[in-house]
Amino acid sequence: MKAIRTFTVRSSLPESLRPLEALATNLRWSWHEPTRELFREVSPDAWLGAGHDPIQMLGRVGQDRLAELAADEAFVARVHGLAQGLEDYLSEARWYQSLEAAPRSIGYFSPEFGITSALPQYSGGLGILAGDHLKAASDLGIPIVGVGLFYQSGYFRQAISSEGWQQESYPVLDPDGLPLTVLRDDAGAPVLVSLALPGHRTLHARIWEARVGRVPLLLLDTNVRENAPELRGVADRLYGGGGEHRLVQELLLGIGGVRALAAYAERTGRELPEVFHSNEGHAGFLGLERIGRLVAQGLAFDEALRVVRAGTVFTTHTPVPAGIDRFDAALVRAHFASGELVPGVHADDVLALGAEDDAAVFNMARLGFALAQRANGVSRLHGRVSREMFGALWPGFDGEDVPIGSVTNGVHAATWTSPHLKRLAADVLGVGDTTKADWGSEALGDDRLWSVRRDMRAQLVEEARRRTRAQHERNQGTAPGWIDRLLDPDVLTIGFARRVPTYKRLTLMLHDRERLRALLTHPERPVQLVIAGKSHPADEQGKQLIQELVRFSQDPAVRERIVFLEDYDISMAKTLYPGCDVWLNNPLRPLEACGTSGMKAALNGSLNLSILDGWWDEHHDGQNGWAIPSANERVDAATRDALEATALYELVEHQVAPRFYDRDEGGLPRTWIRSIRHTLEALGPELSAERMLQQYVRDLYAPAAVAERAIAADDFAAARELAAWTARVRAGFGDVRVLHVEIDGVDRTPVVGDVIDVRAFVELGSLAPEDVRVEVVSGRMGESGELHDTEPHLLRHEGAAASAHRFAAALPVGRAGTFGYGVRVVPSHPHLATVAELGLVALAG
Ligand SMILES: *Cc1c(COP(=O)(O)O)cnc(C)c1O
Repeated sequence: MKAIRTFTVRSSLPESLRPLEALATNLRWSWHEPTRELFREVSPDAWLGAGHDPIQMLGRVGQDRLAELAADEAFVARVHGLAQGLEDYLSEARWYQSLEAAPRSIGYFSPEFGITSALPQYSGGLGILAGDHLKAASDLGIPIVGVGLFYQSGYFRQAISSEGWQQESYPVLDPDGLPLTVLRDDAGAPVLVSLALPGHRTLHARIWEARVGRVPLLLLDTNVRENAPELRGVADRLYGGGGEHRLVQELLLGIGGVRALAAYAERTGRELPEVFHSNEGHAGFLGLERIGRLVAQGLAFDEALRVVRAGTVFTTHTPVPAGIDRFDAALVRAHFASGELVPGVHADDVLALGAEDDAAVFNMARLGFALAQRANGVSRLHGRVSREMFGALWPGFDGEDVPIGSVTNGVHAATWTSPHLKRLAADVLGVGDTTKADWGSEALGDDRLWSVRRDMRAQLVEEARRRTRAQHERNQGTAPGWIDRLLDPDVLTIGFARRVPTYKRLTLMLHDRERLRALLTHPERPVQLVIAGKSHPADEQGKQLIQELVRFSQDPAVRERIVFLEDYDISMAKTLYPGCDVWLNNPLRPLEACGTSGMKAALNGSLNLSILDGWWDEHHDGQNGWAIPSANERVDAATRDALEATALYELVEHQVAPRFYDRDEGGLPRTWIRSIRHTLEALGPELSAERMLQQYVRDLYAPAAVAERAIAADDFAAARELAAWTARVRAGFGDVRVLHVEIDGVDRTPVVGDVIDVRAFVELGSLAPEDVRVEVVSGRMGESGELHDTEPHLLRHEGAAASAHRFAAALPVGRAGTFGYGVRVVPSHPHLATVAELGLVALAG
């Protein structure tokens, strides 16, 4: 019989082992090695069988084993010691507690959170980044509260058939068997948040709380009795539906999420967030709910908008247009039309914030920028690409002035560093944090490091065989003998795992199959490949790519050297990255916004072999791996693939493999090991999520809190003033004109140190000189007359004659070379964060 429902019985723990419950329910165990080790010792079989999930594991352990442990004094002492350690971790002051003016609380919204495979609420990089964000926030003592949805089936589980075809399954999760507790009211009933939907329907959701160390994560669950049956499945799957289903998910995430934070604050006495961070556009509706709340306090929409913008941070994650959520504008209008969804917020205002030039389309990225005063991409290159991609939203401004910065992603080192390497750092180098270890230290011999790297590789080989055996047994009823020879713990191992959208080019390596075969079966310098990845269930083309790879890997001539592992997830990733000598990434530049798998590999001493895209574009230094040259973006796709695939083969054949197999008398690849040390030492601190969080706090959260406090002070005095001023400036700016510009001191060639006098005559119409900034913008001349590396210089108001105001400055010439300059007038107000904020500019000439 097939079960129609599952439920989980939690084991009853003997009194002396009670603290195991706290250790199992706070997800800090997912990155705290001593706690994981403790769970493993409870029962190594149950730990493995439960997929390293302590709650499931405790449910599998017999009462007699628990009684035995309860009588083991040393074990009980460890349990209590670790529980005390957790208590301390949760309460002691950390980095954040030393800051001033930092926000009292931050709400972090994301459609997915990847914390551990025991809480499968993620599909890939975006979610895992969000999970790492919360973990690092916890380690640094940052008062973040995460907000997301509880998907009843999470993302799908992937199985690969004998024919190489991806098959999806959606096991239904039982929240009672997960490390979650439901938020309850005084009477003990679950607290519900509610949203009014068209047709007089109401969507309810209960609030699950996961504890990620010090950080609470609230997940909204629509599978409640109070919902009509068709609404119970609103949060059924991650990225499962389109159109209305997805819109309602996002309304719930944004609007319901703010309501959940309010309920949570009320129940726990915590602060309501001062700063709201939308991780990608899906949660963008959160700003509308915040506006609604301010309107209820007596502010006008435009005033409330100014407050909300001040306190909101928006991170964009994709330069792939198809990756941006778009909805039918009529559908969005239908949800806001009655005014009941967010009282005080009108449909017209909503549509104005998110409409594309084609007004039938509502764009969540536009909404994100409209509702956030601060926005960023996720690597330096991606910041630049985003400024170009979205530049049209700020017409008249140069790329450098488009208000999108960048914070390069990072990864949570304690989660992603192999226990082997952590142990080595602790034993030999005396530090627990591998990103702070002195990997160049003489104390650590090359032989020791290399032998640990071999252990990591051997563990991956073991794991690949175990998984492949299980897959064959499921598909064919039996596992063939060659699986015992699958992969070799001494062969150069290249890993490649990612979701399978086209731009990531899963099958680029198959471009010249003969050439790949020759690399895999090279008599002296063989290479082996470990590959994994899920295709979106609706993406048939992606599934075909997987099938091509699987079919190739089934050829008896190569099958011991190349394997596709099914069901890529966090638990696989944790063995995969450390076990690979080289991590391969070959996206179409610049479509990989950052990419984090290569970072996780690098933290384990794996060298990257990658197109110069995302994070690698800023961190490749010639010693930490190899850059695959990108072909010109303008050549056709087939030519580009051919050029880049050939470059990849050349690199592997002539550089990577020879260096890996270049051994001294002791069998050590000294040059390779030098690169490992350099990678660990140079990249460790840079790629860590702690660095990323500190940057978010300094560059975005703290300035946002300061801005919001200033604008909200004295009963929102500044917000009211700014809204009125903005309306006045918008109305009057059309009459602003630069009449002419005079420059003295360029009749002869100026030299560095000279001074150039600039005067601009500007008509301001109804605006006053204080309403604007008049700037000379100078920069290097580009090919077609555009300016680069621009620098603005402020001109001072010197007076007015007739209708013209005179603005002037004496500019020192600081650099040699050919320069151009322009003059512009932009609105100026102390509560604007950037020159382009209102999108208004008047240019000379
Ligand atoms: C890190 C990670 C990803 C994202 O990797 P990218 O390099 O950004 O594609 C996806 N899935 C899992 C399981 C991961 O651990």
